[in-house]
Amino acid sequence: MKIAVAGTGYVGLVTGVCLAEHGHSVSCVDIDNDKVALMKAGISPIYEPGLEELLVENINRLNFTTDYKAVYKDADVIFIGVGTPEKQDGSANLSYVYEVADQIAQSIEKDCVVVVKSTVPIGTNDKIEDLINSRLVHDVNVYVASNPEFLAQGTAVRDTLHASRIVIGVEDTYAAHVLKEVYKDFDAPIVVTNRKSAEMIKYASNDFLALKISFINEIANLCEIIGADIEDVAHGMGYDGRIGNRFLNAGIGYGGSCFPKDTKALHWLANFHDYELKTVKAAIDVNENQKLKLIKKSRKYFDSLKGLNIAVLGLTFKPGTDDLREAPSLVNIPIMIEDGANIKAWDPIGVENFKKRFPNEITYCNTIEVTLKDADVCFIFTEWDEVKDFDLLQYSKLMRTPIVLDGRNCYDLTSVRKANLIYDSIGRETVNSLELSLV
Ligand code: NAD
Repeated sequence: MKIAVAGTGYVGLVTGVCLAEHGHSVSCVDIDNDKVALMKAGISPIYEPGLEELLVENINRLNFTTDYKAVYKDADVIFIGVGTPEKQDGSANLSYVYEVADQIAQSIEKDCVVVVKSTVPIGTNDKIEDLINSRLVHDVNVYVASNPEFLAQGTAVRDTLHASRIVIGVEDTYAAHVLKEVYKDFDAPIVVTNRKSAEMIKYASNDFLALKISFINEIANLCEIIGADIEDVAHGMGYDGRIGNRFLNAGIGYGGSCFPKDTKALHWLANFHDYELKTVKAAIDVNENQKLKLIKKSRKYFDSLKGLNIAVLGLTFKPGTDDLREAPSLVNIPIMIEDGANIKAWDPIGVENFKKRFPNEITYCNTIEVTLKDADVCFIFTEWDEVKDFDLLQYSKLMRTPIVLDGRNCYDLTSVRKANLIYDSIGRETVNSLELSLV
């Protein structure tokens, strides 16, 4: 079977490489010449654990190109994995998906199954099918299937090779048959449904997870007010199998390329149909506030950030990725800059991407120690292992005033109490071993 994948981002490249790992020959198409050159040389243009190694191992079954016509013309299956970013009004920008659909229509010379992996609003697969059929150059049959992606960045390869489920949304048995063949060596339950239900499964899953995060963050905020401990609360809740213990980590909110845009897109779609998704709206609102939680906390200690030495640990939206999309650091750091703070920042892999946005305003450091040296306050935005494993005693040794604002609850409070610092985290008691008085 000849397989093509359009788009080599976090979804497209991981899909292509994992299909190759299962023995398929895969041509990966992108419009970005630089990315294609890197992949041809066996280098992954994105950071994802295990991806580059798997790409190199399967390089003989992988082809990388910008020449979509040459690839699509005789493909049996074409996966669409291009971006569907958020538009100003919250709806999904489908221009990249429709562009690929148009390219497919112009190129294919034989019957073909077009598989939509990009996250698209309910009904989009129907529109893609209509668009391709209306612009076909050759007399061929096109079968469009929805096959939403559930991988999480940071564990994308594992999530694809050992998927929780493979959802196939089809309107005909042929496309279902072909996709089952494509995935026959994947060890995952397969859910076959119609296209709209498949599209909805993706949005409902992401929005539910966003809701779970916003819920625990609200409970954490209340814990702080009334003196309960969110870590214990989440632990106690998690034993209930109906709730589960995952996604109950309180923090400064979700970011990334999916939850923020997918909550807004579904809310927008519901509104368009005169229906208000109140729970999803609440998740969005809570998250917007939560992202500013640490800046608000800092006002307890400092009237202004002007002239302060600020240490920032973690820039990416979560550990295990170099992706900055919707990262809380992107909301907080501009406020620090505007206030006139001196910022030093550390991140194990996010720095290069951050530098593209803030080339001069921040001093980027190679180690946590250098970042903390002489700092007045430290903000933790990402729970990298290096931060979680960092010796707590070092904070007071290195910083001018050891005030640590932890947006990811990296440390247990028992250890913090022995460390001679002010430690303010999410949904837990503030530890003030220095006995400093607050502003
Ligand atoms: P991305 O921005 O990382 O990658 C998109 C790629 O598509 C880019 O390399 C871009 O150059 C390329 N592209 C654009 N137009 C093209 C064209 N005409 N032909 C070929 N390539 C083209 O996007 P992503 O994060 O991989 O997300 C892709 C889709 O998958 C989105 O709809 C997203 O919501 C969904 N999704 C993402 C994740 C995730 O964790 N990133 C998880 C599940 C689903």
